[in-house]
Amino acid sequence: MTSIAANLQQVRERLWRACEAASRDSAEVTLLAVSKTFGADAVRQAHAAGQTAFGENYVQEGIDKIAQVAQMLPREAIEWHCIGPLQSNKTRLVAAQFDWVQSVDRLKIAQRLSEQRPPGLPPLNVCLQLNVDGGANKSGVSAAELPALADAVAALPNLRLRGLMSIPEPSPDFATQKALFLRVRAAFEDLRARGHALDTLSMGMSDDLEAAVAAGATMVRVGRAVFGHRPLKDATAAA
Ligand SMILES: *Cc1c(COP(=O)(O)O)cnc(C)c1O
Repeated sequence: MTSIAANLQQVRERLWRACEAASRDSAEVTLLAVSKTFGADAVRQAHAAGQTAFGENYVQEGIDKIAQVAQMLPREAIEWHCIGPLQSNKTRLVAAQFDWVQSVDRLKIAQRLSEQRPPGLPPLNVCLQLNVDGGANKSGVSAAELPALADAVAALPNLRLRGLMSIPEPSPDFATQKALFLRVRAAFEDLRARGHALDTLSMGMSDDLEAAVAAGATMVRVGRAVFGHRPLKDATAAA
């Protein structure tokens, strides 16, 4: 087994135990492998170990990797998620190349993605990124502005609104972390109660996936626990 295969197995076991502890069916939680800063061959190895959904933060790196992986595997073998901050000048590439965008936090970006989704492709799956801590310099829509943004995004023709993504401040304490995730869950349930047919609550990473599963996550985004430590580049790279 490659170490990526072994790591994936360990993450799957963590997810399985977290679901057990929360009395949830493990089939309800999708693992998104965050391959940012790792090469196409790492994606190929993870795919060989049964992983099909991958997340990228940096648009150009993601586009290059999608093309490289497409030389090794059929394009439809992998579901590619854009999870990083998105600028207007990158929306055309993202709309053409990715299957999901989880980091939509303003209407202008959503409108561009919908307009630029190429004809012939299925609607682009979208999650709204919720800033649940209220940190002023963090990405994400505020809880107060979320319902109006959800209504507007759901009306766009070439997008399919699937749910919410959030990256709350990390906390070493399980109960604190779970409480933050539960706030995201409450916003998710609120949108569903308002009539949005959402199925994706994307929260939890390598260090806090158990708390996220306990709070109802349906997708966890895991990088380091699958691929190992990232080179320092990650700390400074821009989208
Ligand atoms: C990097 C990243 C992850 C994965 O983080 P790890 O701590 O490596 O598991 C998940 N989500 C987003 C948005 C990220 O940028």
